[in-house]
Amino acid sequence: MSEDLHDSAFLQGLQGCPICTHVGSAEATQCDHCGSNLHANWQHSIQTTWAWLATSVVLYIPANLLPITYNRFLGQQTENTIMGGVVTLWEHGSEPIAVVIFIASVAVPLAKMLVLAYLCFSVQFQSTFALSEKTRLYRITEFVGRWSMIDVFVVAVLVALIQLGNIMTIRPGAAALAFAGMVATTMLAAIAFDPRLLWVPLARSRVSE
Ligand SMILES: [Zn+2]
Repeated sequence: MSEDLHDSAFLQGLQGCPICTHVGSAEATQCDHCGSNLHANWQHSIQTTWAWLATSVVLYIPANLLPITYNRFLGQQTENTIMGGVVTLWEHGSEPIAVVIFIASVAVPLAKMLVLAYLCFSVQFQSTFALSEKTRLYRITEFVGRWSMIDVFVVAVLVALIQLGNIMTIRPGAAALAFAGMVATTMLAAIAFDPRLLWVPLARSRVSE
């Protein structure tokens, strides 16, 4: 832990610019190299993350409860929710695809929201527990986000492929829009979160010692 501390730029009164990676004073509000805004108001980062996170939780509900596709086959219309689609795929012997869709569309977004909420709480309660692990958790969360759009891709591809006139049609349902919004807002929440904030309580306790 003490080695981590020694490496902390914050403790040495420095911060890196997220745009051009120029290292300048931790007090500066603008990068003196490229002029982009630095995280001057750090409280803002947590508020923005919470706001995007709350929006994504609200969108997560219709994304899972409303139908994501409407299928019309020989005049008979059926609806599928995401979970309904997973169950249908499983029953028709496409277990691997069912598992991929479940992980990408249901499990990962939920895990991502929980991780971001946990990280925000950690900063707000000034926790100094397992900071390296939490920083790594954040990096994984940020990286995984872009792969969550799989379900929207599946719907888009199905709609494009299966348009057999009056025999069979597939239309996207309202959940597809909610789902896309949910993925976008969790990504924005992850971007808004500044992982350096995790280290501030530790730095503060060091400074006051
Ligand atoms: Zn810069």
